[in-house]
Amino acid sequence: MRPIDYTRADSIAAAVEAFAAVGADARYIAGGTTLYDLMKLRVEQPTHLIDVSGITGLNTIDTNGDVLRFGALALMNEVAYTPFVREEYPVLSESLLKAASQQLRNMATVGGNLLQRTRCPYFRNGAGSSSTVGVYPCNKRVPGSGCAAIGGLDRGHAILGVSDACVAVSPGDWPVALTAMDASIEIHGPAGTRTLPISDFYRLPGDTPHLEFNIDHGEIITAISVPKTPSRSSTYHKIRDRESFAFALASAAVVVEMEGAIVRTARIALGGVATVPWRAHSAEEALRGKQLTPDLALQAGRTAFGDARPGQHNGFKSDLGARVIADALMIAAERSA
Ligand code: SF4
Repeated sequence: MRPIDYTRADSIAAAVEAFAAVGADARYIAGGTTLYDLMKLRVEQPTHLIDVSGITGLNTIDTNGDVLRFGALALMNEVAYTPFVREEYPVLSESLLKAASQQLRNMATVGGNLLQRTRCPYFRNGAGSSSTVGVYPCNKRVPGSGCAAIGGLDRGHAILGVSDACVAVSPGDWPVALTAMDASIEIHGPAGTRTLPISDFYRLPGDTPHLEFNIDHGEIITAISVPKTPSRSSTYHKIRDRESFAFALASAAVVVEMEGAIVRTARIALGGVATVPWRAHSAEEALRGKQLTPDLALQAGRTAFGDARPGQHNGFKSDLGARVIADALMIAAERSA
């Protein structure tokens, strides 16, 4: 058994100070729904936990200002069931409700959810009892050790944004919806506060798949803000092996602005198929100014996978992903009627 120190912070400043005093082996913890799992699997081995769950004011949900602003400690269920969010931003609400079971949604925070790590089984289950490479090589867990998924069992892995070092899928649903909504992340650290567009928050694996987020050691997510663009015509559509809570094989967050049957604008982001929450710009362009039909929706869906690089067992995701986009477009457009 390894001893772990535990500190409860009562303010953001105290949390950042406590982290700085420990260094890279510290971790912030709030709901703990991801971190405790990874600690049990020995993927994460912090020496010090800094509990931020009691910091006052970090769980506020504000829908009255120029933007929607969700404090990082707001629970997934609290945001999903906020009436204004459910009615005006179904894509956000649905992404949270489809992300996890009721129990998890009552524990997990919307800030922590952004930092979920991949479900790649070689990453999660490959550490064994070793503190070095473990049972399987994994560049994300142990940089430079290799990638067991390339040439291995890769049915659930990514086909977009992959590299020769890692093909792990970004696991989230909420971050996909936030990507379609052009959200921003507020981050607080030793140098003060900064705001990052969500498109800059997630890193492609490249040669350094162990670096997943553009957040430094000691920095903490404090809030998420979402522009208040008209979004009633939106949906989060998720296909998975079993409906009762599983990670996406393919998902799409879609927001459309219609003028009758014509698509004025479409915003589309994908989950379950890429190494980061994936904005499908080519599909968006393929729709602009055109009359939406099921055929056009599928055609647009297919353009999103033009650069796909499937592995041995996940080639089906191109067709599945295109159909998920097409279905999501028709659902979202129907809501504009
Ligand atoms: Fe590790 Fe990425 Fe390869 Fe999975 S896909 S084994 S996370 S390097």
